[in-house]
Amino acid sequence: STFHLADLLSTNIHSVQASAEQHAISLNLQVQETQVIADQARISQVVGNILDNAVKYSPYGGQVHVNLCMYQDKYLISISDQGIGVSPEQFDHIFERFYRVQNTASKHFAGIGLGLYVAKAIVNAHGGQIWLANNQGTGTTFHFTLPVVPPHPSPIA
Ligand code: ATP
Ligand code: MG
Repeated sequence: STFHLADLLSTNIHSVQASAEQHAISLNLQVQETQVIADQARISQVVGNILDNAVKYSPYGGQVHVNLCMYQDKYLISISDQGIGVSPEQFDHIFERFYRVQNTASKHFAGIGLGLYVAKAIVNAHGGQIWLANNQGTGTTFHFTLPVVPPHPSPIA
């Protein structure tokens, strides 16, 4: 179904607002208004999983930024945090089923290691890609793309 990706992102942000506030984490959204044809419930699940991690692995008072823009011919959604970060050797592994980074910092957070596995499966099923990078200072940015699907089937020439 057709939906406004910007609306979806703000709905997802509202869902984590209460838990973010408990840790004084601020959530910021920056968007370019767009319409996307995709499975709304599934895309919401992807954003929800990444946002949940961003809040979970953020320090008290951290900032989370959600950004939506066009990148080449695709939508690009980026979610950055100022959290504990991920070592580059783990970049591929964290998308594996049940994989959780084992270190002292992550020991304090509950989870089963499925969020990113599911997110990747959904993004790939939509023809998009998902990846991450560490920020210059601290924390992580997760990116995923969604192809722009024309709103109507193109007429047969
Ligand atoms: P679940 O999502 O199933 O509740 P989870 O959050 O542990 O559990 P994933 O969302 O799949 O599982 O993430 C896998 C692992 O990647 C996490 O356990 C954590 O070690 C690491 N990780 C994910 N997001 C971040 C982040 N924003 N900052 C730091 N580490 C992260
Ligand atoms: Mg998770």
